[in-house]
This record gives sequence, C-alpha cells and structure tokens, in this order.
Amino acid sequence: MGREHGFQRPAESFAITKAKRVHLPDRLFERRINNFRLFLVSKISISNPAPVERGVSEVDKASKSSAKLLKAQNAADYHLEVELKEPSDQQLPREVFSKPNSVNAFSKRMVNEPVILEEAEVRDQQGEVISMAVLQDMVSKAKQNLEKAYCTYSKFHVGASLLTTKGQFDGVNVENASYGLTICAERSAMCSAISQHGKHEFRAIAIATTSPHDTWAAPCGACRQFLVEFGDFPVILTNNKDEKVKIIKTKELLPDCFCPDDM
Ligand SMILES: [Zn+2]
Repeated sequence: MGREHGFQRPAESFAITKAKRVHLPDRLFERRINNFRLFLVSKISISNPAPVERGVSEVDKASKSSAKLLKAQNAADYHLEVELKEPSDQQLPREVFSKPNSVNAFSKRMVNEPVILEEAEVRDQQGEVISMAVLQDMVSKAKQNLEKAYCTYSKFHVGASLLTTKGQFDGVNVENASYGLTICAERSAMCSAISQHGKHEFRAIAIATTSPHDTWAAPCGACRQFLVEFGDFPVILTNNKDEKVKIIKTKELLPDCFCPDDM
C-alpha cells in the first residue's frame, strides 16, 4: 500500500432497497467522473430489516456513491452502511492525483469548431460539394433513426445516415445481452451500404446521439477504423442541445491510421 491521502469518510448509512440481482461490492465501486476521484468501499455492513424511505434519488445526490446500487431496486428493504476511502496513489495513475480537480485531463479536444450546417461547405472524397438539401436530409434522417436504435442496455441511442454514390443508408446501434457483440450505428450503416451494393464510394456520414452533454459525441475507436477503411470523407456530428454540427474527416478522427494503403 502506498501513502494514504488522508481521505476517510466516516461510515455512512444509506437507505436502500435490495435488488434481485445485485453484487454489493461491485455496485458500490464508483468512479466520480467530475473530479476524477475514485472511492473504494472498504467496509460494508448490512442489517436487515430496517425502515426505509423512498428518497433514493436524494441519497444518490448526497452521497456521490453507490448511486448505481440505489437505482432500480424493488425487493426487500435493507439498511446499508458503507465506509468510503480514497485509494492510495499507487492504485491510480499519478496524473489523476496531480490534477484532482481538472476535468481537462481526459476531456475531448475538438479538432474542428462546431459550425452551422447551412453555412458549411461539405465536399466528398472527389472534392464534389454535397448539396445543402442532401446534408440537411442526412442530419434529419440520422436524428429520425434514433428511435429505431436497439439500445435496451445502455439507453444511448445512436442514429446514422450514410451518403454514398448509390444513395443514403440508415444505421442504428444494435446492442446485445453479450455486450461486446454490440454494433454501432456507423458500422451498421456501412454494412448496409456494402450489403446492398458491394464496394462503392462513401461520400459522407451524419451521426446523431442522445448524449445529454454539451459535447458532440464522436465515433468510437472501432468505428473510426471501420470508417477509414472506406477513405477520407466527412463525418457530420450533431448535438442534442445545439443547432450547430461538427464536421470532421474520417482521417482526422484517426490520424496515423492503419488503412488499406498499408496493405
Ligand atoms: Zn462505434
């Protein structure tokens, strides 16, 4: 064990109801995203039964811990005591402790500034300008596709509209009980286009998400690799809260990529 950072909360009591499938130690392990502090539960004791109030969300906000545990509970009532402590610096990367209040350590750096779509000029791989009507339609379709997403586990809807030389192709994220099998909206749109017309040129793709944040959610790493397979074309990212879009090329999303030119 390394040096302790002196953070030791007294045991706290939370009123919870027990879930049918809950693994207490796992669920109580929570990363506090906002300030990058990680709390480990060092002690758990449960006395049963105990009177419980239904103010679960209040407990969530106050405690900043065990939030996951407190949601979606519906069985017998329990009284739970937990003791939280901050782990030693040997258990976390030094950078996390050197910038305890910085949200920038892992925040996204935007390559391009958000723009108003109607003011943007978007060109495909051949340098041909994509008409504004088509771009607007792509963004609209990507947003419409959100409701078709099969995201029963994450509840994070993603919709895509891929423009190719053969037309427009829809995509949504399709999740699976075996989480790793999940396919993203971008990849499902690309697979749809290739399935219907074989290899042909992709011109641009619009992506919409239901992210509650002010960021422009960008494709995951797997999708970036999948996108550059088909060249360097514009990716239009929409934001739930903002009229502006972010337009970025596939190879900007994945610089120094491993791509067909390397084979
Ligand atoms: Zn993805």
